[in-house]
Amino acid sequence: MALTGIQIFKLLPQTNCKECGAPTCLAFAMNLASGKAELDACPYVSDEAREQLAEASAPPILPVQIGKGVRARTVGGETVQYRHEKTFFNPTALAGKIKSDMDDKELDQKLKVWNAFQFERVGFTLRPELVALEDANGDADAFAAKAKKIAENSEFNLILMSENLDVMKAAVEVCKFKNPLIYAATKDNFDDFSALAKENDLPLTIKADSVEGLMEMTDKLRDEGFKKIVIDSGSRDVKKAYEDQVNIRRAALKKSNRSVGYPTIVFPCEMASNLDMETLLASMFIAKYGAICVMSDFASESLFALLLERLNIFTDPQRPMTVVEDIYPIGNPDENSPVLITTNFALTYFIVSGEIEGSKVPAWLLVKDTEGLSVLTAWAAGKFAGDDVGMFVKKCGIADKVKNKELIIPGYAASITGEIEEELPDWTVTVGPREAPHLPAFLKQRQ
Ligand code: SF4
Repeated sequence: MALTGIQIFKLLPQTNCKECGAPTCLAFAMNLASGKAELDACPYVSDEAREQLAEASAPPILPVQIGKGVRARTVGGETVQYRHEKTFFNPTALAGKIKSDMDDKELDQKLKVWNAFQFERVGFTLRPELVALEDANGDADAFAAKAKKIAENSEFNLILMSENLDVMKAAVEVCKFKNPLIYAATKDNFDDFSALAKENDLPLTIKADSVEGLMEMTDKLRDEGFKKIVIDSGSRDVKKAYEDQVNIRRAALKKSNRSVGYPTIVFPCEMASNLDMETLLASMFIAKYGAICVMSDFASESLFALLLERLNIFTDPQRPMTVVEDIYPIGNPDENSPVLITTNFALTYFIVSGEIEGSKVPAWLLVKDTEGLSVLTAWAAGKFAGDDVGMFVKKCGIADKVKNKELIIPGYAASITGEIEEELPDWTVTVGPREAPHLPAFLKQRQ
């Protein structure tokens, strides 16, 4: 059972030394209780208190790392039921399924295509992370060979899917360096599979035919100190699978039920007859609350939509995505290139810079810190006022880079023209388009 802030406070040194970053031990205790702080931040907790607190302050849904390299993912670790309560932390990992009897050439081709599905968006590279390799026929050598090939020749990490111990052992042996997820321990193979996972220190999926069926197995593993657990409630009916996800999340967070406090794996590929429907289901499970989502295939048009949804859901709703206040050269601008200004809301920046890039007109883009607000909102909130903008242009150093002192401001901020001109008497202010898509035509006609 989780401890309250006061119970945690009683176990702390109570010296208010502030080394943890909190102003008092009580504030730190409250942060710990609400999952906003890590116990390690206090260097003075006694070993005895640490033991009591470690279990109590562990996240209600344990984080589990899967894989190695650029596509490694931590799943789970969530602390709230609804995103608006705080934020969701660890994005759903997306897996594409491959069967172990797939022809080698076909596998190479598939990995090549999947590997190319990487999309740049607001400064992030969006891509799927996992290949779920399914044992097609109990052939341990074939399964291990495919696992080795995927592990060694691609960035993808692995879910190894077999309930046959010999098959699983063979694959673990050749690809454990990539920290694959073992899928799955069931009531029939539990002892062998949990021993294999522990021996190799690999994450393990526990699969049952109901939420209740999971608990005995997860409790046993937890008592033995093994926590790298992912759970599969076994439901392949859409309604039941959705209910399971909600109930598991609710039980872990609201009832402090540690037995289900683990990331979940869901299988849209086993609930739909085509990729469109799978994509629809995957979008539901990204929102509620699948930690790993297994698809039968990836196609760029459906994968992009899922990656974008995932990006939006797993960002902090209270903190807009921003870029750093700076001068951004686009397309090798020189001293005669136009100078534009916008705000540091990441989406605004990437749309505006993308349109300038698309125009093929080299330009300087000034990005002013508006605490992540878009142009119109920043202007309305007084964070994109004329004097502020003028001051920024003066101090950013753009005047040393250009001969022509003309500043192009967004059309939505036209009313600050006079204030900027007062602040920057050497500059001409030109009002640009209101909408970024009109920038290419605007820039081209000025050449
Ligand atoms: Fe208290 Fe520890 Fe924080 Fe110091 S570091 S204020 S002792 S909780």
